[in-house]
Amino acid sequence: MSGPSCSSGINNLYIHVPFCDGKCDYCAFYSTTFSTARADSYLECLATEIDLFLESHQSLVPQTVYIGGGTPSALSTEQLSRLLEIVNARIDTSRLIEWTVEMNPGDFDPSLPDILLAAGVTRVSLGAQIFDDEALRAIGRRHTVPDVTDTVKLLRSAGIQNYNVDLISSLPDVSESLWIDSLNKAVELEPTHISVYNFSVEQGTVMAQKDYNGLLPPVSDKQQLQLLKQAETILNSAGYSRYEISNYAVPGFESRHNLACWHGGDYVGFGPSASSRIGSRRRTNNADLNSYTEAIAKNKLPPSIKEVVVEEVDLLERFMFGFRLTAGVDLKKFTQKYSPAPQQLSHWQEVLRRLVAEKLLLQDEERYYPTPYGLGCADYIAGEFLV
Ligand code: SF4
Repeated sequence: MSGPSCSSGINNLYIHVPFCDGKCDYCAFYSTTFSTARADSYLECLATEIDLFLESHQSLVPQTVYIGGGTPSALSTEQLSRLLEIVNARIDTSRLIEWTVEMNPGDFDPSLPDILLAAGVTRVSLGAQIFDDEALRAIGRRHTVPDVTDTVKLLRSAGIQNYNVDLISSLPDVSESLWIDSLNKAVELEPTHISVYNFSVEQGTVMAQKDYNGLLPPVSDKQQLQLLKQAETILNSAGYSRYEISNYAVPGFESRHNLACWHGGDYVGFGPSASSRIGSRRRTNNADLNSYTEAIAKNKLPPSIKEVVVEEVDLLERFMFGFRLTAGVDLKKFTQKYSPAPQQLSHWQEVLRRLVAEKLLLQDEERYYPTPYGLGCADYIAGEFLV
């Protein structure tokens, strides 16, 4: 991201908070153990990183802000408050429509909802994962089921009604009845949004080691699909619509930040491991707090992987992402917005015809969207456009 340019096209801002109070057995996101001194230093560097970005971009006027991690609520209340001030002091909030902060149940200081609301936060995302204390312990979570319900009570009593609950399906040793019970308990909390991520073994995690040692009971593809289907049935009948492979919302409460990124919008990310997509430029900060703070202490941008992709690849990436969404892609609108080359467009049209014939996509005039079966084959669909 070099050279002065107007950043009015960057509608989405992400901040990665690289701290957790421990490591969950399944998690491959970058985080390190919280300490007050390291978090203070991170916050100072985060402010500088945004300032360095603003030196080469006229302003930051995002429509969405997402503070994730790691665990933003691993910060002390005073530090989280400072983080929100850092953001507010550097962005123009006049176009802001959504500001999400991820929270871990049980980390919740009673004064926090008021601090979030005063700063302009509009949405909270809670990592509940499964509603059983033993199953939570088995995956290395540090919270309990009462922590989730207490946190939701606290949010609601403070007037925060817009919250997401994350769940993980197909966890090892979690029975079908416990999964159904967890879905129902999540619904009882009346969130506006529920994310259902299918468990997968990620490299470098405790689960990967267990898998290597043959200690993870296998869950067949058929069983996984059955558990995801149960999620869809229960959540649909409770009034949640599936709008993306892993995401359900009360209509009108879809995650605007994630939707914008899946629709091909640009985003800028700050903090260790955060990614940015600005036009054809991609940048991912190294997942390492030490090198992040060392570089920024010298007033330099943190070490990162940078790439400038050719226009054809850029458009293809933005196009393929749309098929994660139940609404799919309107080919005419996409073409008007991004003007793909005639050869690329005709290749896409040919692949679209094939995917419709294979019953992975449906066509409604210019709009192509995944069938229920196609939603489970997103990687295959993306792969077809790559060929
Ligand atoms: S799942 Fe969340 S709380 Fe657990 S280690 Fe990963 S980022 Fe931290």
